[in-house]
Amino acid sequence: MALYVQALKSSSEVGSSSIDQIQSQKAPTTGLGFTGLAPLDASRLTFTHTANSRAVPLSNSPEVLSGETCTDHMITCQWTASGGWLAPELKPYGPLSLMPTSSSLHYAIQCFEGLKLYRGFDGRLRLFRPFRNAVRMLDSAKRISLPSFRPEEWVKLVAKLCAVDGPKWLPKERSGHFLYIRPTLISNDPSLSVKRPAKALFYIVISCLPAVDEREKGLRLLASQADMVRAWPGGFGYVKLGANYGPSMLAGDEAKKKGFEQILWLFRNENGIREVTEAGASNFMLVWRTREGRLQLATAPLDRQIFLDGITRRSILDLARERLSGDSDGGEGGEKIEIKERRLSMDDIVAACEEDRIVEAFAVGTSYFVSPVSLIQYGEKALEIPMVEGSTGVYARLFKAWLKAIMYGLEKHDWAYLVDSKE
Ligand code: PLP
Repeated sequence: MALYVQALKSSSEVGSSSIDQIQSQKAPTTGLGFTGLAPLDASRLTFTHTANSRAVPLSNSPEVLSGETCTDHMITCQWTASGGWLAPELKPYGPLSLMPTSSSLHYAIQCFEGLKLYRGFDGRLRLFRPFRNAVRMLDSAKRISLPSFRPEEWVKLVAKLCAVDGPKWLPKERSGHFLYIRPTLISNDPSLSVKRPAKALFYIVISCLPAVDEREKGLRLLASQADMVRAWPGGFGYVKLGANYGPSMLAGDEAKKKGFEQILWLFRNENGIREVTEAGASNFMLVWRTREGRLQLATAPLDRQIFLDGITRRSILDLARERLSGDSDGGEGGEKIEIKERRLSMDDIVAACEEDRIVEAFAVGTSYFVSPVSLIQYGEKALEIPMVEGSTGVYARLFKAWLKAIMYGLEKHDWAYLVDSKE
């Protein structure tokens, strides 16, 4: 119980394993900010199956590349300040009905999550650390004045939708493939008053998206210009609010026009030093040799809450600490590596490049998975990042393989959450 409440306070305060184990905790009946109101309850889910089941598109077909194709069903659940959560409904995928005055449309009162459903090589369907997504959505909801919920009910609802649509949309022949799940929480309070919403809608859809991590040449990143910042201390860059994404499109488009795949977001700190935070909608990790000669896996720390606490980032740090540092043999019999969450300035990266100390860099996240970086354009400087195995470096390959093994059931691990799809 104590663990559970602690998890609700902030995901960043809780150890990795505790959130993954929330599923085994007993749910409290009070203390979640809706005492006396109906809690989100997956056992009340009602089912209305579609009469117009659609054909599943081929991977990488135009429908998949469009990002517009969702599976046959969705789950919706309405919340009101006076009654709490109503019974969730599983129903045919289709448009929502919103009043034009809904405050999500005017004041950006919304947040979302992104996770994948994986078809394992053993034929089973799995989610990866979904309780982390649930707790992160709680953090987002709290920051944007949306209602709270029990994370285990959130996960059960995600799993129920996956159990209904997974068997058809991610059939057993597609082992090694995934679907993308988008849980979303919006205000549908129709009042134009600038106030905390009295009505909210939680919904979950599953979309067919292509894999974007398999690119021959590595990601080319354009460091953000001094006149634009994605997030700042005291802001909301640490949560998954739509308000973080819309304004970043301008810089993203500019980068694409110049031939880069992503923006590398920099933050100018109190001393005027430009630090790396994240790469597009993914976290940034670097393997380099320190001036003292130590091999180090480095990524920016979460302390100032200026970027998202990515589940892929966290998982790589956890695996690296367990398998590559300390008493482990350094994986593949290689050199031990120091794991460091530390501020990464562009000046340090430029110096390391000039001194040939960069080993590799990668962007990590649910959509980009582990994508090797081949170049960082910083002002006039084009910093070439090694990819010693051609299309990847050693560590990006290793982390990707370890994560894939868990996601697709090649390795038994508590981070994998089996979906009971009764196939
Ligand atoms: N940073 C941002 C801004 C993101 O949108 C994402 C993706 O959700 C990430 C990082 C990576 O997070 P995760 O690994 O949980 O997908």
